[in-house]
Amino acid sequence: MSHLLDVIFPRYCLGQSCVNKQRLLGKNESGLLCPDCRERHLTWISRPSCLRCGQWYGEGSMTFDQCRNCIDQPHAYTAIRSSLIAEEQTMELMKAWKYANQVGIWQEVKLWIKAWQAHIDELTQLHDLQNPIIIPVPTTKKSYMKRGFNQAQWLAHELAKQTGYDYSDCLISNNKGKQARLLRSQRIINKTKKRATNQRFDIKKNPINKLLSKKSQGNLKQLQKLQNRDILLIDDICTTGATAHNCAKVLKREYKVNRLFVLTLLRQTW
Ligand SMILES: [Zn+2]
Ligand SMILES: [Zn+2]
Repeated sequence: MSHLLDVIFPRYCLGQSCVNKQRLLGKNESGLLCPDCRERHLTWISRPSCLRCGQWYGEGSMTFDQCRNCIDQPHAYTAIRSSLIAEEQTMELMKAWKYANQVGIWQEVKLWIKAWQAHIDELTQLHDLQNPIIIPVPTTKKSYMKRGFNQAQWLAHELAKQTGYDYSDCLISNNKGKQARLLRSQRIINKTKKRATNQRFDIKKNPINKLLSKKSQGNLKQLQKLQNRDILLIDDICTTGATAHNCAKVLKREYKVNRLFVLTLLRQTW
């Protein structure tokens, strides 16, 4: 099947200043980068420096239970993990997927989703993560209309497909501010002042639940389904962790969920 797709939609390496001159990718090469560009542009996070917020300080850095930031500001979530460092090339591919709706990039993104499995295994070992429910970070109505899709929802669906975990679409965003458009430095200032005051999340009135595992099927109410369950919150990028904190707060308050773990594709470092 993928071979057939390669005939109809040939894939070329999208790496910046590719040494192979952005050559046609063969059927044994997955994603949208040649092996050289993959090696040069992608920095995978195998183990974060802070086991709590998932911040990474580079290859060979020490691992702590909690970094200074986590000690100073307790989080409502238990841990964040990300596949890759947000660098020029990864951000470029992400932007092309999110804003220009270049659907072909999904082939590359799917590889990044696969890297979550190692983090799920690590969280299972560290925290005894139990049969979690996957929930995507919601987008505002406005940006949904603009882009035509919620990227976090795509990611969450794909993970549910890969793992067989339950999926629930129970959060909505009441984000009236322009958090996304603020500079990162400004967002950090916002966070220190008062955590992202313009970013609000709420519970959807009629959530679409695809509670996939047979165990969860039946006529239980949404509340009972989520109560005391562990949550895997899914997003494309983690900048300050404020989104994770705010989602965790509302899910704990409204649904009495157990613990909230976060998986993102990219991680901003500083
Ligand atoms: Zn290349
Ligand atoms: Zn931390």
